[in-house]
This record gives sequence, C-alpha cells and structure tokens, in this order.
Amino acid sequence: MKKLYVACDMEGTTGNCNWDEVNQKSSVYSQFQEIMTNEVLKVCEIMSREYDEICVKDGHWTETNILIKDLPENCKIIRGDDGRNLTGLDSSYSAVMLIGYHAAGGEFKYPLSHTISDDIVYEVRLNGKRIGETTLAIINSSIYNVPTIFILGDESAVKEAQNIFPEINNVITKNLSNTSYISKSPKKVMNEIEISLKEMKKNNIFENNKNIYLPKVDSLEIEYTNYRLAKKYSNYPNAKLNGKIVSFEVKDIDEFLRIINLCI
Ligand SMILES: [Zn+2]
Repeated sequence: MKKLYVACDMEGTTGNCNWDEVNQKSSVYSQFQEIMTNEVLKVCEIMSREYDEICVKDGHWTETNILIKDLPENCKIIRGDDGRNLTGLDSSYSAVMLIGYHAAGGEFKYPLSHTISDDIVYEVRLNGKRIGETTLAIINSSIYNVPTIFILGDESAVKEAQNIFPEINNVITKNLSNTSYISKSPKKVMNEIEISLKEMKKNNIFENNKNIYLPKVDSLEIEYTNYRLAKKYSNYPNAKLNGKIVSFEVKDIDEFLRIINLCI
C-alpha cells in the first residue's frame, strides 16, 4: 500500500502576515483557516489519485485548524497537540509533503518567523547554521527513511528546503521585498500547486525519490529569548550556558531530536 504523509502548518499559508491571523481566538483567523484548508485539500485531492492512503497532520498551534468536511475518502487526519513532531509518521509511508511551512526563528525580517516556539526560542543552530521547522521535519522524516518530496510555504522555508535538496518541488506563497512581505493571490497558489504536482508525476517523483537527510551533528546551539530559559535548559546533561545561548553535546541524530523535543 502506498501511503503519503502531509505535514501542515499555517504561518506559511498564502496571505497571512501577523499572529492574529493564525490565532484561532482572533476574529481575523477564519479567512486564513479557509485558505490553509483549500491549499491542503488541493494537495490531497490530486495526491489521492497517486496514493492509496493519505495521512494529514494538522500541526499548527492547537492543531485543530483544517476544516475537514471535504477531505477525500482515502485521507485520514491527525488533530490535536500531543507535543510531538510529525505524529504517526513511520517507515510504512512512501513520502512526506510539507504544506504551510514558514521562516525559521532568527529570520527576523519575516513577520511570522519562529522555530517551534516564538516565546521560548530566538534561533536554533545545527552545525553553526540556523535551522527551522522545515529542516526539523525533513530530519524527522529521514529517520524513518521517508523522503520529503514537496514543500509549500514562504520563500524562506522553501529556501531552507532547497539548501538541503536543491531540486525539491515547491510552491512559494509569500516573498520578502525590502521591508514588505508580498503574498501571491490564493488563486495563483492553487494553480501553482496543480502545475507542480503534475510536473512531479511526469518526472516520476512519486516513485523515485531519494530526499533523505541525516546530518552528522557536530554542534547544536539553542539561543533562547531570555537568560532564565537558557539557564533552565542548560540543566540538560553536558550542556553549556553562555548568556542566552545553550550549547548541547549531541551523540547522534536521536539525541538531537530528543533535545529539540525536551528543550523547546
Ligand atoms: Zn504554526
């Protein structure tokens, strides 16, 4: 059975540019909930012809954002925050797609940039380089040997994926130009999803993809938003505290993911 995992977030959805627009309690949220849903549905509708089963993971905030009534029959959805990244993913899946991904914490020009928690973390650095949720999702998929084959998100998230897999199929929703954050029209993004997924079929990407990334971890630094948090998380075994920055000693990729889960 061919299975696809679709990991969804909201800050990279077309159009939104401030925290109210991705906050369920806000009156301006529903417009972007609908756009997020449409983008996820579009991917699921096209991919339900290529895969026997699709698992959608709603991964934003309360993890209860996607309107589910029009999901294709062969899609299931995981909702609700269980404190884990890419819940339910395992080696039985053939591919992962990332939808609605966004700029990493530290990419401060992007208004919705963050890595997991805007309150706790300023920036995560793996081997000296800033990483965000895009890289974390790719690593989380790679540990199950599941390739990440497509990303839809803001320009920064797509670039982050391209730094790892230069050929990855993608759709960019929003760009930074000088100080303005410019979004494509939702209709244009819907068209681009269709074009990109068709091209992937033509190029046989669903059958033949090697997008696996398991870097050797030489260093991991987390720069927290304040000293108090840094001090608290520096209690992790062998961690070193330097102002708001904690350097972790990392044995392997499993420990890397464990630190990310425990210390953010
Ligand atoms: Zn989010």
